[in-house]
Amino acid sequence: MLQILAATSNQHKIAEFQELLKDIKDRVTILSPSSYPNFPKLIENGSTFEENSVMKAVQASAYADISAFADDSGLETEALHGAPGVYSARYAGEGASDMDRIQKLLREMSGCENRKARFVCVISIAYRGKLVKSFRGEVAGSIAKAPAGDHGFGYDPIFIPEGFDKTFGELSAEVKDSISHRARAMKKAVDFIRAELDTMDDFEFV
Ligand code: IMP
Repeated sequence: MLQILAATSNQHKIAEFQELLKDIKDRVTILSPSSYPNFPKLIENGSTFEENSVMKAVQASAYADISAFADDSGLETEALHGAPGVYSARYAGEGASDMDRIQKLLREMSGCENRKARFVCVISIAYRGKLVKSFRGEVAGSIAKAPAGDHGFGYDPIFIPEGFDKTFGELSAEVKDSISHRARAMKKAVDFIRAELDTMDDFEFV
């Protein structure tokens, strides 16, 4: 049985991962940081999604001495040269709300004709302190002129995915989960884990 630690305290992300792994659930157990009484705060001070997700996966897998995965995600806009990017969660400062961040982005983009944007998610798997592999998922779209809908979280009310005329905030969770950056990265990670499980008798990432 593979034990893999999900290096996130976000229950929504753990649930998504469990859902994607469900056909091999008798071969994989997902642990969460709450299984470890003194789980450390993970440092993420990189300048790319890749660097941050690798840092978190490596630190968590070294601490737990098993395999671990971590994700890092955010929103990039073309007009603002990639901002808010890796600063998506902190875009309007400490203690700010999702709506504060949305309003800040709309202000920065007021008058911008180019509304092109994308959500990016990078999931990294590490084993006992060493990186195994990273997987990237993206969803392209555009930034709406005003927020709409209250589904999802974060910047969902202002992100219109390509091929739709509604924001992620207005679309159902099923639609978002079928095309999102996180689902796309997770699918690649899960396919990799499944292939590893199929080719090894005694599972070990080396
Ligand atoms: P983290 O990967 O949990 O650190 O997320 C970074 C930030 O990017 C979040 O706090 C959100 O503001 C934003 N973000 C990441 N994924 C999504 C998404 O699926 N919808 C909306 N906002 C997102």
